[in-house]
Amino acid sequence: MASTAVDPVHPSGQGGQGSIPSLAQRPGTGQLSLVALTKQFGSVVAVDSVDLEIPAGGFFSLLGPSGCGKTTTLRMIAGFETPTSGRVLLDGHDIARTAPSKRPVNTVFQSYALFPHLRVFDNVAFGLRRAGVGRDEVKRRVGEALELVQLTEYGSRKPGQLSGGQQQRVALARALVLKPAVLLLDEPLGALDAKLRRQLQVELKQLQNQVGITFVYVTHDQEEALTMSDRIAVINRGRIEQAASPQDLYEEPANSFVADFLGVSNLMDATVTGPSGPGAQVRLSDTFSVEVHRGDVGFRGPAKVVIRPERIGVEPAGTQGANRIPGLLTNVVYLGSSLQLAIQLASGNAVTALVPNNGDDVVSAWSPGMSVACHLPPTGLRVLAGTGSTRDRATDGAPAPDRAQDGAG
Ligand code: ATP
Repeated sequence: MASTAVDPVHPSGQGGQGSIPSLAQRPGTGQLSLVALTKQFGSVVAVDSVDLEIPAGGFFSLLGPSGCGKTTTLRMIAGFETPTSGRVLLDGHDIARTAPSKRPVNTVFQSYALFPHLRVFDNVAFGLRRAGVGRDEVKRRVGEALELVQLTEYGSRKPGQLSGGQQQRVALARALVLKPAVLLLDEPLGALDAKLRRQLQVELKQLQNQVGITFVYVTHDQEEALTMSDRIAVINRGRIEQAASPQDLYEEPANSFVADFLGVSNLMDATVTGPSGPGAQVRLSDTFSVEVHRGDVGFRGPAKVVIRPERIGVEPAGTQGANRIPGLLTNVVYLGSSLQLAIQLASGNAVTALVPNNGDDVVSAWSPGMSVACHLPPTGLRVLAGTGSTRDRATDGAPAPDRAQDGAG
């Protein structure tokens, strides 16, 4: 566990929108700014000059593949790692070199890290007692924290008598009872099964709303990040690829790394040849061109075009009209609420489309080997200038993307 709170005897009723006022955070506190934050381990640059704004009182996720630098970033906010260079500003004060125990920041780990010999109540009370909080106050605040995580009845059990999900709730209560300005969560649901994980995702988000404390959440699971976060920073090789709301990341990915990481997307090689309507004319092959309305439509030259599977309209073979390309159905996967269709387009691109399962006929309507027409609507298509991540762009001379680098927008 990271630390004790700087203000352990926080008077109750100070702002906050929760039903448990003494655990609620003062509005407007807990704003983090990472400024040119860098961490090098020998020759490995784990975090590479990261600039990031994490707004007060929100649920912010650091999302990226294994080894991208998420945990190292979190550990620098907690104080477990000292930055090689750069600053960590909390409400305007640089805490980058402040001892972990002096930061109003707590961490919840995947491993729970509870004291096995202590009762649940005493685990939660531990930090308060260490900070010299009086007995009555400890009792009241621990009671409130256990109520918040729905473990009121479990105070006298030992951690070994609890399920994994319950132990993680205790760890949460133990961190929240100290009323940190920022709560850091390092893949806290990673050890739980899929169903419990989904349930706790919803509970965690509700809990964050209730207490109004800034949550910084590390995960490599894009669905988890999309479900819970107000904002997400997508990290790749120690750098921020894009920081934005879940909707903006999904609908308006800044580059092909983000598009690819945020779920199945169809990335097609293309050439942007000129203007067309409010967007651009994009050549997919010698014979097939489409009009594209979104993304870097002012760009000219080789690029990627991306479209989400649910935006592709799969129509009967021979359907005529703009932005339609003939295709051959190569595979059909039944997903319950939808069908996933693999389609080889006559332009040479292989795409995946999702068709909602909204009636009996849908399942029998599609089978491998069928000819179809694919409608790629201009508003569903997006030009991504350059070839890959922002780092690739920096080296290939492609124009600057229209990306949101920080948490401001
Ligand atoms: P994961 O999701 O697998 O935990 P991550 O995104 O959290 O990955 P980090 O743990 O931050 O990634 O690691 C980033 C890079 O820094 C990796 O290449 C890792 O091997 C390296 N690294 C992390 N900690 C150390 C260390 N103490 N010494 C040397 N290298 C380290």
